[in-house]
Amino acid sequence: MLKQLRSIIHEVTTAKDLRTALDTLVLRVQEASHAEACSIFLLDNEKNRYLLTATAGLDKKLINKLTIKLGEGLVGLVGEREEPMNIADTYAHPKVCHYEATSKEPYRAFLGIPIIHQKELLGVLTAQKRDPDSFEETEEALLVTLTAQLAGTIAAAKASGDLERIKKTRETKIVDGISCVQGIGIGKAVVIYPIADLDAIPDKTIDDPKSELVAFRKALKDARKEIINIEKSLPENVSEAERALFDAYIQLLDSPSLKKDVAKEIRAGNWAQGALKHIINDRVAQFTAMEDEYLRERALDIKDLGQRILSALQKKPHAEIKYPKQTILVGEEIPPSVLAEVPEKQIAGIISLSGSVNSHVAILARAMNIPAVMGIKDFPITRFEDKKIILDGYYGQIYISPSKKIQQEFIDLVAQEQELDTELLAIRDLPAQTTDGYKLSLLVNTGLPIDIGHSLRVEAEGVGLYRTEVPFMTRDRFPSEDEQRIIYRQLLQIFAPRPVVMRTLDIGGDKNLPYFPISEPNPFLGWRGIRITLDHPEIFIVQVRAMIRASEGLNNLRIMLPMISSIHEVEQSKKLIKQAFNELIEEGLNVQMPLIGIMVEVPSAVYLAQDLASRVDFLSVGSNDLTQYLLAVDRNNMRVANLYDSLHPAVLKALAQVVLSAHRENKEVSICGEMAGDPVAVMLLLAMGFDALSMNANQVLKIKWLIRKFSIEDAKQLYDEVMVMDDPVEIRNHMEAALEENGAAGLIRAGR
Ligand code: PEP
Ligand code: MG
Repeated sequence: MLKQLRSIIHEVTTAKDLRTALDTLVLRVQEASHAEACSIFLLDNEKNRYLLTATAGLDKKLINKLTIKLGEGLVGLVGEREEPMNIADTYAHPKVCHYEATSKEPYRAFLGIPIIHQKELLGVLTAQKRDPDSFEETEEALLVTLTAQLAGTIAAAKASGDLERIKKTRETKIVDGISCVQGIGIGKAVVIYPIADLDAIPDKTIDDPKSELVAFRKALKDARKEIINIEKSLPENVSEAERALFDAYIQLLDSPSLKKDVAKEIRAGNWAQGALKHIINDRVAQFTAMEDEYLRERALDIKDLGQRILSALQKKPHAEIKYPKQTILVGEEIPPSVLAEVPEKQIAGIISLSGSVNSHVAILARAMNIPAVMGIKDFPITRFEDKKIILDGYYGQIYISPSKKIQQEFIDLVAQEQELDTELLAIRDLPAQTTDGYKLSLLVNTGLPIDIGHSLRVEAEGVGLYRTEVPFMTRDRFPSEDEQRIIYRQLLQIFAPRPVVMRTLDIGGDKNLPYFPISEPNPFLGWRGIRITLDHPEIFIVQVRAMIRASEGLNNLRIMLPMISSIHEVEQSKKLIKQAFNELIEEGLNVQMPLIGIMVEVPSAVYLAQDLASRVDFLSVGSNDLTQYLLAVDRNNMRVANLYDSLHPAVLKALAQVVLSAHRENKEVSICGEMAGDPVAVMLLLAMGFDALSMNANQVLKIKWLIRKFSIEDAKQLYDEVMVMDDPVEIRNHMEAALEENGAAGLIRAGR
């Protein structure tokens, strides 16, 4: 039974959409439980009815039509009792309802299992058979197990709106992926196939390696020219930092090791195309095996590059594609170079079967503001070919051949979003100020080079959190003091005279360096952040020296310490920073001592906030970690994701206490976790008295727009109202209703 169970669960959980998952499940259960019919009745809370949503064995025409009232019939009884019911001869049962009794199919035995997810009843799964004897215990156990699995899938579909859609439309295909760039794209799919297929190249022995070497070198030159041309054709709003992605291509092309390794293989007797295939595939495999997601994504760049060189070797002219006015680019992988080939105004969206939030194409798409969905499993790209597509970048969903009704719904949403965008741009140069004149600073969180372009576009008032981990992650060793100085200097220069808060290395937890592996049973409670750098003062001092040297003449640097949990750590860090500073002064540098702050992200720091504040220049709350540690919920664990909520009353109380403690010492306090850019939380943070909010650059204008819609009095009233509530869900609903009432709901869903 276990094997059967596993195979059904695998089939259901990997189904390409909810409809297929439900249809597969009823069919497999029908076979496995020897039932003549298996059906799923889902609860429609608004209509107080169960709706037949999938069936194998009952008349399929009844799907989405047949309803059963709450408490009616055997289905109603199972739902009411919230327990499995295995009934032998249903005809004799007093609760049997009209439909169950008069159905064309003379089914006598009934097995009903409630579908429950986290205490919420979602529906009932039924199995029926002609034989009046009840179902066997093993069959009942099988159904109970499967139903528990199904409940999670249905709950997720309900949360994403998928469930509503399958109830309404059967002709539209909905495919799920990962949301990479928010927004809605409506257009026609153009499927992009690899320009040249490296994998299809066989090995071939040659007698004349010289001419192969000449051909390979020429191909390198041609590919180089092509990439430079593509970069030149990028739209103007793509900043220098984003253009740097193409420089990375050129660097790869120019790398002596690539040339050397291919040449070596050619000299050993393989033809140029075969040699190129081997070397590129080796590199791709090396990057694919890396633990860090950002680095793993670089494998795609190498493959794209390999294919471009191959195409140059084969001297294949690229097929001219006619792009429709509203093009949705679809591909197994979409290399950034392809994206740059389509006229900018004609790209309405991007769908990539592989790839993720960190892929270069996602980074570029974000810069160009093109909605994108990636990471779609088990759905062949050919099925997109020439299809009308709606791409919902908010929920990561794709509608293939959408019905007229769905199209109209999305067209209306797009029009509303455009109105909102115009309003947002109009306030770019205005302060983040409430209607009654209360002001605070909006800062940005940065890490990737791409963030800088965004931050400048939204006129951010400074950097509230620079995560220094990224330059450490993209290397195969610790970066030297000078390498770090150059990177930090660039950032400080771009933002000067605006302040830049640089956090010292915060590795450990879920952020590991490939060359400094840490393996622990409880990494979030282990060697992390300041604990590592204090144990390795040589790493800490080099980093701090690089930061201070980078700030020479600019003086806009602030240094922030992550994961502080005790006074001792602050004292020790300050001592090391002072030591680095004194060394630099002795070395003759004209540098200033930067302001020093700490992150409050561990409960002990909340209780010690005032003592800590008296020893530093500023505090910044890392609400992502603070939520995880206060609620004892791993921030990356999907199983407890529903318990992770920064609007939990305990988190809100802690935040308010930190603000009070900092202000008692006349120190500034900001917040730089995701919560700072969350529209439902912002009014509460304002009411608590935070001096600055630091967030992802793409949230800045939205949050400013929101702040400018409310008064500080409104904010304080909302704060008083929610601080007596004890349920985070109630608090969220309350805040969402406030946004809706003030015409600001467009910030939390599509439309405006
Ligand atoms: C936080 O914990 O809120 C924070 C900003 O730091 P990170 O997300 O990098 O851990
Ligand atoms: Mg943190």
